[in-house]
Amino acid sequence: MAAQKKHGSEWNMQPDSSDRRNRYQIMRTPPNGIRNLIILSHSPLGRYTHRWKGRTVPCREIDCRACEQEIDRRWYGWLFVKIKKTDQIVCFEYTSAASEAVMQYFNRYRTLRGARLDAWRKNDKANGELGMSIFPPKEHAEAVPVAPSREKFLSVLWDVSIKLTEAAEPPESERSLIERNSLNTPVDQKRNGRKVD
Ligand SMILES: [Zn+2]
Repeated sequence: MAAQKKHGSEWNMQPDSSDRRNRYQIMRTPPNGIRNLIILSHSPLGRYTHRWKGRTVPCREIDCRACEQEIDRRWYGWLFVKIKKTDQIVCFEYTSAASEAVMQYFNRYRTLRGARLDAWRKNDKANGELGMSIFPPKEHAEAVPVAPSREKFLSVLWDVSIKLTEAAEPPESERSLIERNSLNTPVDQKRNGRKVD
């Protein structure tokens, strides 16, 4: 018979694998901007969300209670990044205003991994429109760490179980052959006539 587990009864070097707290923090761009983030995630990935009862919830698209009440939807994208200065890994959140820059880079270079990202707020305001520049890695750039799972991170952040399939990183030789990836891009941001970000 398995011994009964009691909370806090053992000393551990790290939490259980079932621990539901996020190891990573979400990072939004401060008014004075941020430079030198190294992107770890392979592909762009985002989703429409609502501010619902004081928290952010993913839009369910079908039978969405927030949509039924005509609460604004906003698209956000998330990329795991490494802050070059400190080596800290965080989940960087960007808005639809900056999504074009991400897609352009991705379409051209076929992966975001290793790219350098600078972000700023237009007008230096906390809620100013987000601007982003993405630069290819320098030649002989150091290997970048494996990207944490955005599925896991966002499930814990929103306290819901989301399922998403991250596009697999293609081998270098095949990158030019890839026509499309299973990505959520904000192409339908004017859907239903709702204004988003
Ligand atoms: Zn919705």
